[in-house]
Amino acid sequence: MNTDEARLKCLETIRQLEQELDDRAALEASLRRLLNRLCMAAEGGHPHLDPILSRLQLDVQAEGMLTSAQLEVYLNELSGLLHDRARGRASAAPLDGSGDAAEIRSLGLQLLVELASLPRLQDAMDRLRQELRVSERVPPWSEWVSRVAKAVHQCLSDLHHQREEMEDFLQDITRELASFDGYLAGQGDHLRDSQHNREAFQGNVEREMSRLDSGLSDRTLDLAHLKELVRGRIRAIGQHMETYREQEGLRDQEVRIETERLRQRVADLEKHSAQLREAFLWQQRRAHQDSLSGLPNREAFDERILDELSRWARLGTPLSLVVWDIDHFKQVNDTYGHSAGDRVITTVAQRLRERCRRTDMVARYGGEEFVMILVGTPAAEALSFCDSLRQELADLGFHFDGEPVAITLSAGVTEARVGDTPMTLFDRADKALYQAKHQGRNRCVQG
Ligand code: GH3
Ligand code: MG
Ligand code: MG
Repeated sequence: MNTDEARLKCLETIRQLEQELDDRAALEASLRRLLNRLCMAAEGGHPHLDPILSRLQLDVQAEGMLTSAQLEVYLNELSGLLHDRARGRASAAPLDGSGDAAEIRSLGLQLLVELASLPRLQDAMDRLRQELRVSERVPPWSEWVSRVAKAVHQCLSDLHHQREEMEDFLQDITRELASFDGYLAGQGDHLRDSQHNREAFQGNVEREMSRLDSGLSDRTLDLAHLKELVRGRIRAIGQHMETYREQEGLRDQEVRIETERLRQRVADLEKHSAQLREAFLWQQRRAHQDSLSGLPNREAFDERILDELSRWARLGTPLSLVVWDIDHFKQVNDTYGHSAGDRVITTVAQRLRERCRRTDMVARYGGEEFVMILVGTPAAEALSFCDSLRQELADLGFHFDGEPVAITLSAGVTEARVGDTPMTLFDRADKALYQAKHQGRNRCVQG
């Protein structure tokens, strides 16, 4: 280190020392002021404390700073004094009113303040506190305890009464809610169809219930406010219910109108389809019925013989076919007129139908020819049946122009055979008919 550096270092150290001295002087002045103020504040607090504080103030003013030995003396004196005071307070007056009046008042006030923090006791405790503040006489502890106990007892009996009232009120509310529930249960079917409306309603009810719940958990509310709160929420639920019912009502009305419209439409369709069915059946009947005789026509026969032949092939039961033809019919037309011929056709047709079983079939094949399907009847039996029928027909006894006219029929009879088709079956019967004609008419021949 050179000379300049050493001189600079020395100057820096002096500056630091001067700074520390200034700081220490300022601290001492502050401490003295603090000590003076403490002494002035504590003056008159205790008869033994005042002389100690006076000496301390004098010493501080005279000597500036106290030595640690002097401070030790003062600290010991003050500690002893505080110790004595603490002991004296612990053995203070008994709680019978004979003790220190200020102390009783102070403790009493403290108790009242603490009890007044309970909202229900606040008024009663405030009254007692006011009384205690203005009263010259401090009442004995037993009287205080009795008055406080009375106030607490009154408070408890009020609470009990209010609880009963609340229970009654809640029962009313429960009944009202049960009626809502009943309505909802009764509307089960409708509710299923109105999912959205129901969810909205339930959401509203849940919201109201949660508001009610949070309101009920507010312990600062009194009964009147609680009742108002519950009534308000129930009213709100009732309004939601009304809205819900209105919407359901509108929806119901719409559904009713739509249902009625659909019902009408279905009825129209049913009517229309019935008319169509009737027309179709009429057409079908017409297509398969001979208009003059009312018997099934040739088309009906063609269909039926096909069915009966396939049934015969399946079941093997005998099946006979007969072809009838009115003898010399042309002569009837020619002699007595076409309408006379028509009457013969209708009369013969009626008798042929009357003599057949329900399972059999008689059809007008065309002109004055008829065909007969005899189900379950072998040829021999069919022949005998046809012969007796032929006789009946011959005995009908027609009269034209007042004259009896003999009308006879001939028939060819045959039974279905293996390999037969409608055509082969018919041809065989027709050939037998031809034979019957050839043999002199008014007879039945088996082919
Ligand atoms: P056959 O004994 O050989 O059968 O002689 P037929 O005169 O009966 O036979 P033909 O075939 O020669 O005559 C049938 C007649 O039946 C001819 C036709 O005018 C008549 N006829 C056909 N259909 C009808 C009808 O619906 N009404 C009337 N009145 N006559 C009909
Ligand atoms: Mg003929
Ligand atoms: Mg004929």
